[in-house]
Amino acid sequence: MTELLSNFVAGRWQAGTGHATPLFDPVLGNALVRVSSAGLDLAEAFDHARQTGGEALRALSYRERAGLLGAIVKVLQANRAHYDEISTANSGTVRNDSAVDIDGAIFTLAQYAKWGDALGDARVLRDGDAVKLGKEAVFQVQHIQVPTRGVALLINAFNFPSWGLWEKAAPALLSGVPVIVKPGTSTAWLTQRMVRDVIEAGVLPAGALSVICGSSAGLMDQLNPFDLVSFTGSAETGALIRAHRAVAQHAVRVNIEADSLNSAVLLPDAGPGSEAFDLLVREVVREMTVKSGQKCTAIRRILVPEGHYDAVAEAIGAKLAAVTVGNPRNESVRMGSLVSRPQFDAVHAGLAVLKQQATVLHDGSQQPLVDADPAIACCVAPILLGTREPDSASLVHDVEVFGPVATLMPYRSLDHAVSLAHRGQGSLVTSLYGADETALGLTAVRLAASHGRVHIVTPAVGKAHTGHGNVMPMSLHGGPGRAGGGAELGGLRALDFYHRRSAVQASPEVLAQLGLAA
Ligand code: NAP
Repeated sequence: MTELLSNFVAGRWQAGTGHATPLFDPVLGNALVRVSSAGLDLAEAFDHARQTGGEALRALSYRERAGLLGAIVKVLQANRAHYDEISTANSGTVRNDSAVDIDGAIFTLAQYAKWGDALGDARVLRDGDAVKLGKEAVFQVQHIQVPTRGVALLINAFNFPSWGLWEKAAPALLSGVPVIVKPGTSTAWLTQRMVRDVIEAGVLPAGALSVICGSSAGLMDQLNPFDLVSFTGSAETGALIRAHRAVAQHAVRVNIEADSLNSAVLLPDAGPGSEAFDLLVREVVREMTVKSGQKCTAIRRILVPEGHYDAVAEAIGAKLAAVTVGNPRNESVRMGSLVSRPQFDAVHAGLAVLKQQATVLHDGSQQPLVDADPAIACCVAPILLGTREPDSASLVHDVEVFGPVATLMPYRSLDHAVSLAHRGQGSLVTSLYGADETALGLTAVRLAASHGRVHIVTPAVGKAHTGHGNVMPMSLHGGPGRAGGGAELGGLRALDFYHRRSAVQASPEVLAQLGLAA
């Protein structure tokens, strides 16, 4: 029998009862560990975090809490080798893809530690300057931000068990808000292990960090009006969260990061042979293959001038042909597997749907898997689809296939390209490739209202740009509409979600006593 991973709630490690869910190696097919959240006293868990953790964190200054994040970074760095092993075994990722999750988390924590330190010894944040409320300045309003007096419930997707935890926990803990994380079940091991290492290192106050692995049943029922829920996952589950009475009736604040039909646009000036053309091809191939395309920010739709459709298809296909797929433990493998059998089935089902309106331009499954049994391994080779009728092919703008799959489509004019990008109904990110700076700037503004991030690649930034799908803590992450309407990261903007804004109306002498940061 495999190990049953413990949950850490109410200040102690607790095993779930009843039937436990096994977690598998998606390449070899063997069970690794088990998880269960059955039988936990959730009311006790949430009360402990809210009271013990919340009080301890709020007693600290921003600088002191930034110090806690710095201490977490050291713990994770010290244990990094274990995380690589768990990621390979449980997520089926090659070393570079594991690094996106693990090192991306450590980098994000370190950034928030740095930004938090600069906030100094304050416990209250200034929100703008004081403004007089009448003719004289004797009575004024000062807006302030204070940590919410609740707990942050983080419900995460399976694709980023490390980054998904820490990109949310970093701003929450820095804000003075305790965290309960519920990872996506299929890859929960890495999240649980990281929390275990941090708890065992004793670097956080009691109640600041808890982890519940297994079923989500009953978690939302525990939320009180000052609590928060930050959800990452499918639009379908996001809708359930939004409709839960904690949110609908008790105004529990909610952030939803859902799925997204992100696009990449080759501008009219960037023909075959240009640097921008090559940069688009490289980025599309990277986005399709990093983490086997299991990234919410991955490029799903490639929009190119109609005259370049064939050349782009050929160039992407040629690069995809060089991608070796299989067992991530084999050094020659560039792309590992999907995280689970259900995901494997979901990708094939999604592909069948897209093929109703798109044709296959490149099919990597013609090549054998490296060091992996195709009957067991959840490996899917990269597949480039294409449609010459993007206006009528509604499915390609609507169906997210969460794997190494993207669809190429031609546009007639830049107006047409913008309207096709908008058919994603709100996306996390779009990227533009070209050398015409005026056209790029104007197009970026036209796309900004429907995209949380617009990533522009010109030859001048060919080596310096951070990647279409790479979520940097300095930049906003989240998109409107279909993408969930959430907002994460973006430097200290992330702290907004975990704070409450209040307008304090008083004399300047009283306002001077609020303890605001300079
Ligand atoms: P999912 O099935 O929606 O699950 C997400 C999380 O919600 C999991 O922890 C899941 O637990 C939990 N959950 C399921 N039902 C729930 C309920 N009724 N109440 C509360 N929680 C519930 O999504 P996924 O398959 O893990 O992730 C893939 C999706 O996430 C993709 O569509 C991808 O685009 C999206 N995603 C978005 C972002 C972003 O930042 N926008 C980032 C990553 C992924 P179990 O695992 O136990 O079912």
